[in-house]
Amino acid sequence: MSAIEIKESPKQVFIDTYGCQMNILDSELVQEQLQALGYQFTSIAADADVVLLNTCSVRQLAEQKVWSQLGRLAIEKRENNNDLVVGVLGCMAEREGAELVKRMPHIDVLCGPSELDKLPGLLQNAMQNRQRQVALSGHTSRRSATLEKAEDGVEALDLSRSFSATRSSKQAYVRITRGCNKFCTYCVVPYTRGPEVHRPPLAIVQEVRSLVEQGVLEVTLLGQTVNHYVFQDGGKTTSFADLLAMIHDQVPDLQRLRFLTSYPRDFDDATLDVMAASPRMCKYLHIPAQSGSNEMLRKMNRGYTVETYFGLIERARMRMPDIRFAGDIIVGFPGETDADHEATRLLIQKVRYKSCYIFKYSPRSGTVADRRFVDDVPDDVKKARNRDLLDLQNGIALEIHSAMIGQEIDVIVEGFSPLRVHRPQPGEVQLGWEKRSAESTSHVRLMGRTQGDEIIAFEGSGDLVGKLVTVKVTEATQLSMRGQMVP
Ligand code: SF4
Repeated sequence: MSAIEIKESPKQVFIDTYGCQMNILDSELVQEQLQALGYQFTSIAADADVVLLNTCSVRQLAEQKVWSQLGRLAIEKRENNNDLVVGVLGCMAEREGAELVKRMPHIDVLCGPSELDKLPGLLQNAMQNRQRQVALSGHTSRRSATLEKAEDGVEALDLSRSFSATRSSKQAYVRITRGCNKFCTYCVVPYTRGPEVHRPPLAIVQEVRSLVEQGVLEVTLLGQTVNHYVFQDGGKTTSFADLLAMIHDQVPDLQRLRFLTSYPRDFDDATLDVMAASPRMCKYLHIPAQSGSNEMLRKMNRGYTVETYFGLIERARMRMPDIRFAGDIIVGFPGETDADHEATRLLIQKVRYKSCYIFKYSPRSGTVADRRFVDDVPDDVKKARNRDLLDLQNGIALEIHSAMIGQEIDVIVEGFSPLRVHRPQPGEVQLGWEKRSAESTSHVRLMGRTQGDEIIAFEGSGDLVGKLVTVKVTEATQLSMRGQMVP
């Protein structure tokens, strides 16, 4: 792509990101791409010439927030800033394209998640021509499961990543797979992000290496069903296990390697063996079960049974006794009975997740579940089941955290902790936490993350942010732990 020159004073861009880690990474790459062309980013929407909403369609609530934001932007544009450029990126653009511009005609740019490499050109055209610019892939119908090599356009965004010596975050996401072929009946992702596309392994290893060279300590590999990664090049096949081993061995200065999100079907022993044998690989799996009932799993088209899921948990624990699991559960899926709910309770008790995201089912238009099933579990029952599972999970998390009291654990210091670790004594002046910074104080409350993805708050020097330190756990709560730095 030829460089697009920005001749006037730099345009200010505000980007608002909704949804998952994949969207966070997309926003980061969009920002880097636009900055390289002279755009500047602001954290204040009112100062922006361009407002980008990187949207999520997985849950109704996320979409409602975007509709509200677009309503506010319509008023802003009408009353204060007629030149404001409004762009909708991501899954909602892909899914709701026509409806979005019908209801919100002030949208200037629509760009689907597979088309983000085209965004600079779209913005340029929108500003010059004052005409709406649209780039959507049209993944609207079910496609056969294909394992494709990364297409040029899709790969372009990831390859455009800029590597700067001034990078502040020591943690980074790296995409290895785009899209999804699973077609769970409740999910819009295969329609918005398209079929699975796997990136070449050498490009991934090179990206990780470059990030580590600029100081990154921890890389999280991203894919909708990350463990289904496979890349074929001529006669050579690189499996997910191969890829993990390559990164671990070929980038020895990488301190931590983890991956999200795993799919319970076809999780092979080879991957677990690489995890167990690689000291810098996090012993952690985010592996959504969605339900503990085989009947619900069948209706969700998840393609595995509870027995398969338990088998995987057992195989992982056999190799890595300290492994931590995180999960996702949907309550109130159509037809869910008390017995199905009880089966999900048993699953949570048996797996003992360190954390579990529990969601009430809400139908998404265009999905198979919305077409085939009646949303027949009353909302008060959904709420009660949600509460019941949250209480159960909170109790388990507290037990897991309490069992860690006294242990000395390595953490990456991510930033300043909002937790009240230090309780001020009467008469002691307490500074506003949010006003503190690494520069302004030498002793602050910090927040670190363990390789098992647990959070520990502790006191230490502000300049420890971004470093790997050892902390002794002293207290436990449901959500996190507190501790003291080991000198
Ligand atoms: S695996 Fe299922 S839930 Fe996950 S993104 Fe694919 S279709 Fe959606």
